[in-house]
Amino acid sequence: MDFQWTPEQQALREQVRRLCAGFPDDYWHERDVKHEFPEDFYQAVAAGGWLGIAMPEAYGGAGLGITEAALVLQEVTASGGCTAAASSVHMNIFGVNPLVAHGSAEQKAAHLPGVIQGRTKVAFGVTEPDAGLDTTHLKTRAVREGERYRVSGRKIWISTAQEAHKILLLARTTPLEEVRRPTEGLSLFFTDLNRDAIEVREIPKAGRHAVDSNELFIDNLLVPVADRIGEEGKGFRYILDGLNPERVLVAAEAIGIGRVALERAVRYAKERVVFGRPIGQNQAIQHPLAACWANLEAANLLTFKAAWLYDSGQSCGAEANAAKLLAAEAGFAAADRAMQTLGGMGYAQEFHVERYWREAKLYRMVPISPELILSFIAERVLGLPKSY
Ligand SMILES: Cc1cc2nc3c(=O)[nH]c(=O)nc-3n(C[C@H](O)[C@H](O)[C@H](O)COP(=O)(O)OP(=O)(O)OC[C@H]3O[C@@H](n4cnc5c(N)ncnc54)[C@H](O)[C@@H]3O)c2cc1C
Repeated sequence: MDFQWTPEQQALREQVRRLCAGFPDDYWHERDVKHEFPEDFYQAVAAGGWLGIAMPEAYGGAGLGITEAALVLQEVTASGGCTAAASSVHMNIFGVNPLVAHGSAEQKAAHLPGVIQGRTKVAFGVTEPDAGLDTTHLKTRAVREGERYRVSGRKIWISTAQEAHKILLLARTTPLEEVRRPTEGLSLFFTDLNRDAIEVREIPKAGRHAVDSNELFIDNLLVPVADRIGEEGKGFRYILDGLNPERVLVAAEAIGIGRVALERAVRYAKERVVFGRPIGQNQAIQHPLAACWANLEAANLLTFKAAWLYDSGQSCGAEANAAKLLAAEAGFAAADRAMQTLGGMGYAQEFHVERYWREAKLYRMVPISPELILSFIAERVLGLPKSY
């Protein structure tokens, strides 16, 4: 067992921390209030070479693992940039994994350098209003017509679609009634987010205002066959391949928010004097904060165990899912406790923890809910009957 970061990993954390220090809380507050994409942050991360941290070296990436990508994203959220900061770069850092893992050499050469250098923004188009978490029942259809597909349907919650140049799009190519299993007959495309055929309508939401999420109305979008990733009908499997590392990254992000919230709460608890003593001298203030620290550390251990399993080629489904569950709960609990610690000022935008709280909440719901993770663990780890 070795619980030490390598000197390279430690240096990487410090470099990302320094980069993020140039984008303090006030920067993120302003982006949040103005509902403005953090373009200069995104460009700074690209210029630092961090977007390609886990991308193949052949296309300009650093070729490192999920462990390093998780460290980068954890520093990003822990800077106070929270979910907004992470969501602005997450797709470039890992979201295009299906293209990396299953795309052709031509597709990779054409698209990965742009993603790594920050020239290409990509939206992830999976969720649909009538399917929700039951992805295999999505309704968007792609019908082949010679050397192209005609795609029509609806997507919901698609993040960065206001900004994105490209979209990873999952659509059904063989009707559900004609496949042996619902997981078959879905195909994945990496194609232009063509606004002539895709209406993008922003969804007003509770937080993470700097990064948009949208409904997409896709009407006769023509997609060249050359934009299909891998084989027709295997798209769901390609998405599944990336889910475990995705859980690890999201877990690391959630812990980062918990840490910054806890740090702000502790600082306030030391400075705020009421009844003639710092509020942090009271155990009713101390103990919940101490419990938050313990829970964040425990979730972090499992997160990086899952990352290590993945990077060393071992199966990590149980650990990655459990890490996401625990990290999201611990991250939100810390943000909630931070708000409570600041009292009335916890509700004031000036102190930023209300923004952390709104953004930490998101990780409890997406990209997968605690209910579905528990069902997965019950079935796949404990061997109980499938419940859904
Ligand atoms: C801000 C934001 C950004 C997002 N960005 C993207 C994106 O970029 N691309 C994308 O494709 N998607 C995106 N999503 C979608 C997100 O992944 C989904 O919201 C999420 O997968 C949950 O799906 P749903 O909202 O349809 O929930 P539903 O499937 O409708 O579920 C609703 C609730 O019911 C529970 N539930 C459902 N079935 C069961 C069951 N069998 N047992 C117990 N409980 C159950 C769920 O756990 C959940 O709590 C985003 C969502 C948000 C809010």
